[in-house]
Amino acid sequence: AATLTQRLLGMLGHAKPPATVQAVSNLSVEIRAGEVLGLVGESGCGKSTLARMVAGVHAASSGTALYRGQPVAVQQGARVVKTTTKVQMIFQDPYASLNPRHRIDRIVGEGPFTHGLVDKANLDDHVSRAMQRAGIDPAYRFRYPHQFSGGQRQRIGIARALGMQPEFLVCDEAVAALDVSLQAQVLNLFMQLRADHNLTYLFVSHDLGVVKHISDRVAVMYLGRLVELAPAAEIFTRPNHPYTQALLANMLTLNLRRRRFSAIKGEIPSPLNPPVGCHFHPRCPHAMERCMREVPVFRELAPGHSSACHLGDD
Ligand code: SF4
Ligand code: MG
Repeated sequence: AATLTQRLLGMLGHAKPPATVQAVSNLSVEIRAGEVLGLVGESGCGKSTLARMVAGVHAASSGTALYRGQPVAVQQGARVVKTTTKVQMIFQDPYASLNPRHRIDRIVGEGPFTHGLVDKANLDDHVSRAMQRAGIDPAYRFRYPHQFSGGQRQRIGIARALGMQPEFLVCDEAVAALDVSLQAQVLNLFMQLRADHNLTYLFVSHDLGVVKHISDRVAVMYLGRLVELAPAAEIFTRPNHPYTQALLANMLTLNLRRRRFSAIKGEIPSPLNPPVGCHFHPRCPHAMERCMREVPVFRELAPGHSSACHLGDD
């Protein structure tokens, strides 16, 4: 239980005014040093908001993301200022997250240089090493992002994160833009990096199939709430929450190329006006009268396996 902890308490996210969306609420989870925590849910469930808070890119309106007991970011006026370089984020879209006017050596080298992790004399070596670790030939460091394929650009994004000598990577749909064979390669790279550098991951995906292969534990979110958290093997063999069960059934029925959650009955309700009681009740095959009034408590069913559902309460 020593070492790294991430604790997210009562985090609230905001959408554009005038409407305020509670994107994530009353959520608390610890990520253990060296583990991969998979975070899954349909789009709009708040997982990206959560990922950004954990990575110190967004601030929570209340609650904190802590890294080794210290806030990952602090609010300074309108700005969110990160307080650690040890937590780095890898984004979904390698095209959007790389400045098209900057060469790769600058994209990868700027952060470490600015933060004093490397001096000018060693910068080129530092960049080359980060690229090598990410599986990109360092000979390409004088090229621009448009000269690379989508898969290579994602590796550049990874090299940029590695250049910061992170301990903890927050990956938000980091392989979602890639086709299936490239997805496998990049997932293997993440696992290799984890083994080589003892990295910890929060791995966010809408795709349970992606999360399955790399996670030690899996957290399932629905409309801003954590609905289930368990060791990966448990989630896939003994899912408790009806939403997790639906995701899993859906994963198994769809073919590998087009795994989506859309086959779950009904639309995701608007986060502006979430259903009262259990948020999942309009889509749940087991919904009872009580589910429409009472928010189910997130409770431990077995050691390390928690779920928020009224089923089996009595
Ligand atoms: Fe379904 Fe009720 Fe459980 Fe919600 S609390 S998942 S509606 S059975
Ligand atoms: Mg998202």
